[in-house]
Amino acid sequence: MHSLLVRVWLSILTALILLSGVVSAQKPKPQEQDEDYARSVKEWTTRPEFISPLVDHLPRVPGIPSPKEVLDHHIGAPGRLTYHAEAVAYYRALAAKTPRVKVYSIGTTDEGRECVVVAVGSEESIRNIDQYRAYLAQLADPRKLSDEQSREVIAKAKPIYHVMGGLHSAETGPTEMLMELAYRIATEDSPVINLIRDNVIVTITPVAEPDGRDRYVDWYYRHKIDEKSEDDSMGGPPYWGKYIFHDNNRDINYSQVTMRTLLDWYLQWHPPIMHELHESVPFMYTFSGQAPQNPTLDPILYGELPWFSNFEMTQMIKYGMPGVWTHAFVDMWSPGYLGFMSSNHNGMLRMYETFGNAGANTMKRKVDSGEATGGGRVSPTSREWYRPLPPYKEVIWSMRNNTNYMETGVLLALQLTASFPKVILENFYRKSRNSIESGKKEAPFAYIIPAGQRDITRIALLVNTLRMQGIEVGRAASEIKVKEGTFPAGSLVIKRDQPYGRLAKILLEKQDFPDQNLRTYDDTGWTMGLMSHADVKEITDKSILDVVAQPVDRLDPKGTITGGQTTAAYAVAHYGSNNMIALRYRLRDLTVQAAERSFKDGGSEFPAGSFIVPVDQRGKNVQARVKAAIEQLGLTAAGLSTQPNVPTHDLDLPRLAVYSTWGNTQEVGWVRYALDKFEVPFDLIFKERVKQGDLRAAYDVIVVPNQGRGGKGLVYDIEPRSKPIAYTKTERFKSLGMYGESEDITGGMGIAGVAEFEKFINAGGLLVTLGSATFFPPEFGLTRSIDAGRTSPRFYAPGPIIEAEILQSTHPIFYGYAQKIVPVRYANGPLLQVPERDRGGQVLMRFSGTERSVLSGLMKGVGEIRNRPAIVDVPVGRGRVLLFSTNPCYRWQNFGEFNMLFNAVLNFNDIKTMQKKSDQTADGQEK
Ligand SMILES: [Zn+2]
Repeated sequence: MHSLLVRVWLSILTALILLSGVVSAQKPKPQEQDEDYARSVKEWTTRPEFISPLVDHLPRVPGIPSPKEVLDHHIGAPGRLTYHAEAVAYYRALAAKTPRVKVYSIGTTDEGRECVVVAVGSEESIRNIDQYRAYLAQLADPRKLSDEQSREVIAKAKPIYHVMGGLHSAETGPTEMLMELAYRIATEDSPVINLIRDNVIVTITPVAEPDGRDRYVDWYYRHKIDEKSEDDSMGGPPYWGKYIFHDNNRDINYSQVTMRTLLDWYLQWHPPIMHELHESVPFMYTFSGQAPQNPTLDPILYGELPWFSNFEMTQMIKYGMPGVWTHAFVDMWSPGYLGFMSSNHNGMLRMYETFGNAGANTMKRKVDSGEATGGGRVSPTSREWYRPLPPYKEVIWSMRNNTNYMETGVLLALQLTASFPKVILENFYRKSRNSIESGKKEAPFAYIIPAGQRDITRIALLVNTLRMQGIEVGRAASEIKVKEGTFPAGSLVIKRDQPYGRLAKILLEKQDFPDQNLRTYDDTGWTMGLMSHADVKEITDKSILDVVAQPVDRLDPKGTITGGQTTAAYAVAHYGSNNMIALRYRLRDLTVQAAERSFKDGGSEFPAGSFIVPVDQRGKNVQARVKAAIEQLGLTAAGLSTQPNVPTHDLDLPRLAVYSTWGNTQEVGWVRYALDKFEVPFDLIFKERVKQGDLRAAYDVIVVPNQGRGGKGLVYDIEPRSKPIAYTKTERFKSLGMYGESEDITGGMGIAGVAEFEKFINAGGLLVTLGSATFFPPEFGLTRSIDAGRTSPRFYAPGPIIEAEILQSTHPIFYGYAQKIVPVRYANGPLLQVPERDRGGQVLMRFSGTERSVLSGLMKGVGEIRNRPAIVDVPVGRGRVLLFSTNPCYRWQNFGEFNMLFNAVLNFNDIKTMQKKSDQTADGQEK
């Protein structure tokens, strides 16, 4: 037929159909399918039962690019991984050709890459997406809605279902799968996809950690592309993100830029469901929110989670897919996982673990190694009530298998959401409403941060972290009188009768772990006040809800300088602000002294460790610079007309190094992050530098952050492979060689390295070891007199907050600490043993180790640490070793402990050996 005629006919036909309103009733022509896709996918799927009818086909729609048309391969092709920018380019190409897809630029990563969110839905949904966002915002904060109005909003609204891939860089599959998912939802004409497209708006984070994705893909193409089996695995690169690995899923205070970018997006879009895609266990674990569960979260959530996971498991078993299960992996205790931002804000966190090969190579995998998987878990291949069709013990596994499982699962979850969109929306609304109501009915009704605390900077950190998550904080205009006491005007009030009142409680309350016999995936304690050494009061007096409080947007405390004529010096009070070290570095070219004892000036008391900055430092513009720095850093200072009569020492700036193995860079990363945040310059050194020798000529202080499990791991690190594994930047692999370079990351520093550390200490250097790195000096004889033991297998302490007692309160590392008993995060460091003759002098802090000293979270077997040293200061040769059994720089969390490390750095050459005091004991045996 003549083409013009065809077109005329077609338009008449279209007009008729539109007029008669029978579009949906018209039986559609079967959609053209991509035969090449079906063939390829069948070939790459290693057994027929590893695929489902939802994903064994893909439509071809002229003019709309499938992944292959942009990437040059179908998703799941062996040996192919996509860089972040390539994935984003695909979504943009797709969005350019269909009104059903839109790409939003939402901010940047730590390394400056663009973060995007992709929205997929019906044309109508995408066209009106701002309206749909507004509906969800109304449901997220229903204070302005009556029940009647909320029903009207729900009737008009659609749920947003957010899916995230690529948070953990070695878990490579989700980023690939999501491109196909987006294309399928945008193009496929089938009952299930039409249902999803019409009733749900799907949003996608293609790569949650773009920096790590690019580094990993570089690494894959450089080292892993030829791997044939899991036995010849080269492992992964030394870094994913700029600072951290898996902890991007434990960043409870959103320190990392990339994580904060997503949080900001979340709070503007309010997706009721957020779904993280991970890879680990076979073949697919779908999270059901098992115990221990955080009881503060809405009970509705605990019904929703198994509702979804059971639907997915049921359907996939029906499709004949083995190995889908729902229980005995991750629990609902810690709120610090990234996707928890959803549960924390009255939505729903969902999560899968599918089976990945840490790349895109097809290989034989031993699923059941016969070894216990830890935590008392059973083999992942056993048949259990929650795993009626278990995975196989051995399998040839491919990227496409992984893609099939994930995509089928996500499509089922979307089908369920699309079948019950109003239920999802009602639940979201009800959970938000319940959060407000529970704050009116159930104590505690508020938390108060009393005004007048010495250090406002740690309070600012705490308050701003709450604000970042949308929690409302108010400042009381006048004095507050409640059952718990009287609090001055200006005190900060966090009321519970707000949409995120439950989250406030979760973050501020003491964690009461429900059952000593349960185990948990991450920390059991995170109470922000304890972690910050800030006073936060729980208020059970309901009248607090009526207190008038001005909303606080953000706390930016301005420092103050009091006093009259500053003719001699400035005194800067050491109240335990972590900004003290930043101040010292901002004044790095000036003489700054530390007062060794407290002193008074006018009405103010300056505790030991306070800085004294003499004014007469020629040409250094001291007054203006001190003033500016004090103000910006929120510190408290006074101008003095005479130098105070108190012993002092100069705060010299050390040449500082931080030592890192190649195999465990994450905890080092947290220390790097804290040092960067507080403006402390340092060299990051590895085995390569240590083995060069002459460390003392280059450094005064070397900090060895918590890493690995003990001294042996620190010294020998990654086991050598058949060939060197280079982590270097090349023309082709630009993301490698960042944050350190090595021609071969294996082998560790070895005994030769230990000898260099020994020379460094003997020649007058200060070695500081944190957490499990503290096994290293005792185990390798650097501190001959100290022993390092381990707790028994019965002991179990996943990150509780416990009491420790400061024994040498005049020691410089405790400058700024006013209390003798302080909360510390337990780090599972060594049980240190100090000879009796040295105990009085060398043990600076010890664990109380009583039941009541466990302040938050779980410590089972607390007696094993009773009176054990927590920090030991050992003189060796002309230098010394500071052994922290604690980790004073744990993630971005225990701000109250940071100063123990920072003080050590600033006072490195003024630490004196203390006199023995015979009235103290500090080991396992009580006197
Ligand atoms: Zn993961």
